[in-house]
Amino acid sequence: MALDEMFSNQSEELRACYNDLMKRCEVHLDKMHQKLPPPKDRWNEILNSHGVSRRDFLKWCSIMTAALALPPVFTPKVAKAAGMANRLPVVWLNLAECTGCTEALLRTAYPGIDDLILDTLSLEYHETLMAASGYQAEECLSEALEKFAGQFVCVIEGAIPMGLNGKYLTIGAKGKTGYEIAKEVASKAAMVICIGSCSSYGNIQAARPNPTKARGVAEALKISTVNIAGCPPNATNFVGTLLHYLLFGALPALDRLGRPLWAYGKRIHDFCERRPHYDAGEFVEEWGDEYAKRGFCLYKVGCKGPYTYANCSQVRFNQGVSWPVMAGHGCIGCTEPDFWDKMAPLEKPMADHAPLPLAGVEATADEIGLGLTMVTLAGIGAHALGSVFRGVGKEKGGEE
Ligand code: SF4
Repeated sequence: MALDEMFSNQSEELRACYNDLMKRCEVHLDKMHQKLPPPKDRWNEILNSHGVSRRDFLKWCSIMTAALALPPVFTPKVAKAAGMANRLPVVWLNLAECTGCTEALLRTAYPGIDDLILDTLSLEYHETLMAASGYQAEECLSEALEKFAGQFVCVIEGAIPMGLNGKYLTIGAKGKTGYEIAKEVASKAAMVICIGSCSSYGNIQAARPNPTKARGVAEALKISTVNIAGCPPNATNFVGTLLHYLLFGALPALDRLGRPLWAYGKRIHDFCERRPHYDAGEFVEEWGDEYAKRGFCLYKVGCKGPYTYANCSQVRFNQGVSWPVMAGHGCIGCTEPDFWDKMAPLEKPMADHAPLPLAGVEATADEIGLGLTMVTLAGIGAHALGSVFRGVGKEKGGEE
């Protein structure tokens, strides 16, 4: 369906806006097609060899189109961009981290299409996955920076220790600090993506008392980054960001924490399948109780979904099979800055906060901010307390 036809009922202004976007997308895709190096393997052959039909691929493309908040008419463009992803040079740095993000993103037994894109990325340098080591590895990095200067995407996993002039983390035969390497590589990249919450904000590496003075990449290097937060993050959010870059040559709209709004614009709590239980005042009181078996809300056993912005409940993990709250453990708030310190204790509700009204479903992280989100706890706490006298209390024979 043509754009004009699809938006025939919409205002002139909206039609013009989507027409402009489509033109920009077509021009950029052509430019990328000319500019990017040829693929090592053809995308169609990769799909065939993994038993993915064209129909399944297009279905995935339409889901990604919707996830990126684009109208369905953009689906063929998303398919074209996905087919080009294995030509985009990527330099992946591993700094102060546990390699959990790499493990989660690249090592799946039954890869979905997101995973296939990640598996076939043109990784020019990745310390964990490459065969080269020592001086040979450093040469690979220098060559990639020279050959693809201004073209490659720099992906950074892990925080940057700033204490002792960065010497808590040195990498490679020449003993360069993580700070020096990240600064050099980021300065030559087309864009910098922080994968995981450690590179986004410091996170676990920067947890109190933070003896290495670890920082997130944007703070340490004083640059703008796209933060795909999470511990680990979801493959869909990373792939969607790459697709957006291939489609438009620009960063997606970001929130105040540098996270793509299309993926981190809403609270987990507002799209959680246990939310009706929360609203009915039906809570798991302790691990393994009758209410846990019945799938009640996990707020009282520490779920931080009400203060956490991410699409986990919508895109899920492991090929969309499940996510932590569905599996029976509350959200630990891992997409938020300093969650390890600020969201503790992880298996109990947080301590008292001053009362403020609950944020509405439409509120984004920008509108209410983490500090304000945290104090919504008082309202939630009162709600949870009220449940003693409503759903759960009634079942236990309590009085209203
Ligand atoms: S508190 Fe947690 S389990 Fe309960 S509805 Fe919110 S996100 Fe879901």
